[in-house]
Amino acid sequence: MIQIVDQKGKLRQPDAEDMLSPLSDSLNLDHVRAYPIEKYDSVLLIDTFSDSIAVVDKSTMSEIYKKNVNLSSSEIKILSGLFRKNTKKLNDKYQASVSKVCADSPITYVICPTYTCNNRCTYCYQQHAEDFKRRTICDEKLNKLLTYIEQDLRGRRKADPNKMAVLDLFGGEVFQPRMRQIVERLFEFARLNKMRISATTNAVELNAYFDLFVIYKPYMGRIFTSLDGGKEYHESRRIHVRGPSYQKIINNVNALLRLKIPVTVSINLDHKNLDQLPLFLEVSSQNNWLNNKLVTLEIGRVDDRRFETNYEGIMPEAELLHHLIEYDAQQGLPSNIKFAFIKSCLYMAERFGLSFNQKELGRIKGHFCWATSPADSVVYVDPDLDTFRCTYTVGKKAFITGNVDSGGPDNSKWFAHNMFTNPECGECSIGGYCSGGCYLSFQKNKAKQCFEEQANVDYFVKEVVMPRIIQQLTGVADDKTA
Ligand code: SF4
Ligand code: SF4
Repeated sequence: MIQIVDQKGKLRQPDAEDMLSPLSDSLNLDHVRAYPIEKYDSVLLIDTFSDSIAVVDKSTMSEIYKKNVNLSSSEIKILSGLFRKNTKKLNDKYQASVSKVCADSPITYVICPTYTCNNRCTYCYQQHAEDFKRRTICDEKLNKLLTYIEQDLRGRRKADPNKMAVLDLFGGEVFQPRMRQIVERLFEFARLNKMRISATTNAVELNAYFDLFVIYKPYMGRIFTSLDGGKEYHESRRIHVRGPSYQKIINNVNALLRLKIPVTVSINLDHKNLDQLPLFLEVSSQNNWLNNKLVTLEIGRVDDRRFETNYEGIMPEAELLHHLIEYDAQQGLPSNIKFAFIKSCLYMAERFGLSFNQKELGRIKGHFCWATSPADSVVYVDPDLDTFRCTYTVGKKAFITGNVDSGGPDNSKWFAHNMFTNPECGECSIGGYCSGGCYLSFQKNKAKQCFEEQANVDYFVKEVVMPRIIQQLTGVADDKTA
């Protein structure tokens, strides 16, 4: 017997639509991940490439392994439709997604006008690197940068004059009082070029810029900031050069909201600060941020993509996701919560309605993240006009992808990191969900990354998917005995 897990995570019997596949004389399940469901003498099969999930009883499984001798033609058609790896079909689907997402995504220029910062956060992955230079962009380089963006944008808007473009500010910390002149110039540039302004900021000294936010309000997109949890914990890790920052950040977020500017407030979790989540939600509640349409409360995961910090508090993706699913079941998470850390488990989480608004703009199936996806037009540019592809690499000169002075970025190596171009990933039983994993981890220690991503998928299946399947099988069994 074959039961299909539909896109809403519900078991259903195959129907005529599932029998449209041509008859196949070779059903190869080598690329499919199989998990026994002992109590029901069945196996849960997951094809990560076609994203098909089904429950197949053990006798049907043994017929498959005996080369289909006793399977009916309808069973073979169903199984072929679910589990036959069709590289051409996958490729066509991939190309179609690239075109569609490219057409829908904005062109984003992320400017890091300074690497200086008014905070000394204990955990900052950028500011502690030994070769890191805390520079601010000079006038000459700023002129060059703006000319580059103007020309690049003009060329790309030829085909679509209304193409959305974003000027995103990043750092270091942009909104320091000393950055005023540069920020004014960037805001005005965005207005003249019909770009939306967004920014990532620690928000501690944002109040020095509110007059600009009022003037440029029609161009303002989202402001991204973060809290580390409750006040005491936050102040112990987020060291601001001029004393406590917690209340200042909250006041500045509330002032942005009064201007109707959307804000994302995020928290990054690990084993050691999980207890901060209720405090983060409590302060959100006190400030009317819960279920507030202007606010997104984002949950990230503390990670170590280059395997360099060896921080022992790191929680694997699937474990953190499981913890949050349980938290939601017991305490309830607000509707404006957004997860920002689900990678290999994303497609399974979406199917069971457990992805909590995670939408990674630009990420398409075949890639682990937006940074390797050609569908996302994002470039980071720093004070030296060096370009970078992913947020985590900004400021690390070993990861430069080019320079504005010499024609801009070359992302070809990043885009070539996907499930089609890495032969091992194409053969791997989690290839369609992991798709090569993080490009940085892959380069640093591929074996470790493969181990971790396979463990993530297995953990999620065991702790989250399987109980939901068994509950339905039990329901079916109970119905039969009733
Ligand atoms: S990176 Fe490793 S685990 Fe991920 S798809 Fe490739 S081979 Fe599989
Ligand atoms: S390559 Fe992707 S997964 Fe890795 S750090 Fe960059 S954005 Fe994150």
